[in-house]
Amino acid sequence: RAKEAGRNRVAYFNSELEAQALKRLEIDRAVLRRSPLDAIEILLQPQLPICAKTHLPRFEVLARWRSEDGTLIMPGDFIPAAERNGLIQAVTKAVFRIAIRLLSQRFNQGGGEVRLAINVSAADLESTDFVFQLLKDLHAADIPPELIEIEITESMLLRMTVGVKSALRALNHAGILLSLDDFGTGFSSMAYLRELPIDSLKIDRDFVRGIETVHDRNLIAGMIAMAHSLGKEVIAEGVETPRQLEQLAALGCDWGQGYFWSSPIPPDQTFAEFG
Ligand code: C2E
Ligand code: MG
Ligand code: MG
Ligand code: MG
Repeated sequence: RAKEAGRNRVAYFNSELEAQALKRLEIDRAVLRRSPLDAIEILLQPQLPICAKTHLPRFEVLARWRSEDGTLIMPGDFIPAAERNGLIQAVTKAVFRIAIRLLSQRFNQGGGEVRLAINVSAADLESTDFVFQLLKDLHAADIPPELIEIEITESMLLRMTVGVKSALRALNHAGILLSLDDFGTGFSSMAYLRELPIDSLKIDRDFVRGIETVHDRNLIAGMIAMAHSLGKEVIAEGVETPRQLEQLAALGCDWGQGYFWSSPIPPDQTFAEFG
């Protein structure tokens, strides 16, 4: 019996792995079949002031991949696929193109200023062309660099090279804002905080989920105190309940983002409701 159970476990494990490999293959195929310029769509998720005094509306840009058959692939699946297939720079380019067009349209229609936070990958910052091209595109569209924030993750910084560091410094120098995403989940948060011109920290939603425990609340309090003492802002990710918001407000958290206010939704809808 024990032997049989063991065998079942192995069989289950194998079919699980097979299913994963198959899914990966399918996503690779979907990503290779279309140009990012045709496939990428963006949603916006609002960031709301909790204790922040400035009220410039802010939104995070979250990408989706529209397959040929109309199905939508989430970034957790297609970003790694784009990275393994050498397409990530084309994806980022497509995201920026849509974001810049969105801001231009908004200004042409007399809309007020908003800030868009855009996620990038390490490979983007390793290309020497990235910063130059972005600044050129913003200039051509007459968009102040201060309206663009770039989100980098700790995990991507594991590959932090001299090139990546100088790209981040150049972006910061040009007035583009930088935020450290998923803060607290990596291994080297402190080193990055020390070495890079970071404007804000995004506290990962794992901590926010645990905020009602003394342990996680104290961790969040520590992160906020540290960020503020360094002159940086804090954005809490994954705020879902009034209770979490209340706790974050009591701890002096500057901004919040999460399903409590809104999930990521199409830009026209986000602007109509939040900005
Ligand atoms: P992220 O940058 O940490 O983005 C936040 C993720 O949390 C988003 O997932 C968002 O939909 C989700 N989220 C927001 N509020 C809540 C909440 O209250 N509760 C919960 N449970 N989740 C919430 P999404 O859109 O699936 O994106 C996943 C990740 O993919 C992002 O994590 C980001 O790292 C990456 N990503 C998204 N768009 C891009 C992109 O254009 N370029 C790159 N390189 N990465 C991207
Ligand atoms: Mg992000
Ligand atoms: Mg995040
Ligand atoms: Mg996160």
